[in-house]
Amino acid sequence: MKSYMGKVLRVELSSGKVVEEKTKEEWLNKYYGQKGLGFRYLLEDIDPTIDPLSAENEIIFTPGVFAGTIISSGGKLAITSKSPATGTITDGSVGGSIGAEVKYAGYDAIIIKGKAEHLVYLYITPNKAEIRDAEFLRGKGTHQTDFILKKKLKDEEVKIISIGPAGENLVKIACITSELYRQQGRGGIAAVMGSKNLKAIAIKGWKDVTVSNISSFLRAVGEINKKHLLTPDNSWTNSDGTLVFGDFMNDGGILPTRNFQTGVSPTYKRLHSEMIDKRKKGNKACFGCALGCGNYIQVDNIDLEGPEYETLNMVGGNCEISDLKTIVQFNKACDDLGLDTISTGNIVAYIMEMRERGIHDFGISFGDVENYLKLPEKIAYRKGIGNELAEGVRFLSEKYGGKEFAMHVKGLEVPSYDPRGSWGMGLAYATSDRGACHMRAFPITEEVIEKTVDPFTFEGKAKLVIDGQHYNTAKFSIGICDFWALDLNLLARLLNMATGSNTTEEDMAKGGERIWNLGRIFNVMAGFRRKDDTLPERFFSEPLPEGPAKGKVLPKKEFEKTLSEYYQLRGWDEEGVPSKERLQEIEVDKEVIEKFERYLNRR
Ligand code: SF4
Repeated sequence: MKSYMGKVLRVELSSGKVVEEKTKEEWLNKYYGQKGLGFRYLLEDIDPTIDPLSAENEIIFTPGVFAGTIISSGGKLAITSKSPATGTITDGSVGGSIGAEVKYAGYDAIIIKGKAEHLVYLYITPNKAEIRDAEFLRGKGTHQTDFILKKKLKDEEVKIISIGPAGENLVKIACITSELYRQQGRGGIAAVMGSKNLKAIAIKGWKDVTVSNISSFLRAVGEINKKHLLTPDNSWTNSDGTLVFGDFMNDGGILPTRNFQTGVSPTYKRLHSEMIDKRKKGNKACFGCALGCGNYIQVDNIDLEGPEYETLNMVGGNCEISDLKTIVQFNKACDDLGLDTISTGNIVAYIMEMRERGIHDFGISFGDVENYLKLPEKIAYRKGIGNELAEGVRFLSEKYGGKEFAMHVKGLEVPSYDPRGSWGMGLAYATSDRGACHMRAFPITEEVIEKTVDPFTFEGKAKLVIDGQHYNTAKFSIGICDFWALDLNLLARLLNMATGSNTTEEDMAKGGERIWNLGRIFNVMAGFRRKDDTLPERFFSEPLPEGPAKGKVLPKKEFEKTLSEYYQLRGWDEEGVPSKERLQEIEVDKEVIEKFERYLNRR
């Protein structure tokens, strides 16, 4: 099929075996690329009950359908695995140019299993893929790794994806980095690379990506860019990037501050304007993206792409840190060490509140800049208190107490949106396939940004969340960045232009549902049920003290009722187990349905 490369690279690190195989073409129509294809291969290849840090786990790299073409915002690379933080399936995408490079090297997927005897990197060119020694990179940050590998390979153009010390040390909040500032951040996925002794992948490709009809394709892309991409509605990406979200959240009273104790920040707006008005030097973009949402800034002698909204608030106001330079230093350290800034900020705020409440003293209070700046290194190298912080908020709350204000879902730390002022977002967090994630469905758009839906009711939210999950799943499987808010009709048109298929808008929604169910099947087989689809107690029982959402909590009974409605609409039972009939209806392939049936019958 056009726009795909027809090959998958399989690497078995224990034996050192590297083989190419044909892409299962029958899966491409059903699961596309990125998230969908990654989910399908993972479900095929591994037992969902395995230890995520064992050699049996796989880590799968899948570019999107449009990667390597001139379709804007389509160059990302998805990374899928079983998460060491949650035990669920997890996927996320990394920007930059690495997704396109995987296609240029000739692959629809790179699947890595096993464990090397010592630290290695994988060097891939269209002629060969080699496992090479990487002991000289041990302990190196992602920035140094990028520079050193390029020098060693004598190639400035080679694209590199790597882990820092956090991944090597199996930190549960470790992220994978490419081109210094592009991360797949969530679920501790870099610890899977670390557990395999895989420090980096360096890729250099020069194969062509072909599309269905090049002349009509070029014409259509030009027209679509003018009409649907470079529009006033999308101009925020270039002017402010993700920082605009913080203003909306603050105005809606749901900007997490002091470990989610309140939803109004006294400092966010100032930090936002300082970054854009005084510190911004330019924009950075991923491969072929006309939106260019990355803010490249300089603060004194520190330069950085970022901080994104999530980081600015989670390591800023949520920890009561209000000085931009301090936040930038912390952000840069996390990027280099390979730490997810959302989870890191959440953990730091949690231990600050633990001390405030006299539950346990890790020696740091809200606003303590000196100790705050020491934490990224301690966590990444598991030094001193860092060894326990590296295990995440759930671990800390189970060991020391304070579960009611441990802000995580299924072990993944909650990002920078408080659902007490956006009840749909609460349901989205609870039902997300990888724990507390804002990128599976984002009802905040309707509830807080556009204000078209009442944020303080569960009425209609089950359907709103389901539609959002299907939309994002289709979009992240075909492979378009979150920040281009195109509709499913246009997404289907782009897919048809590139591949020559005849996909409709309805097919897209069904495809999104099909892939969403693959994730649920994996998680059910891994042991997840209704009891896991819940939220931190603080959201149910502690009213927000100020702002537009003052006095609000998520009513637990109504939440449970809505969860049942959500399961019913999905054709799942009361425990959240998908029915065979629904799986057949949405055309999940029969091998998956049979495998799932065998699992259910064995219980
Ligand atoms: S909008 Fe931003 S994150 Fe998305 S592809 Fe473009 S530059 Fe990358």
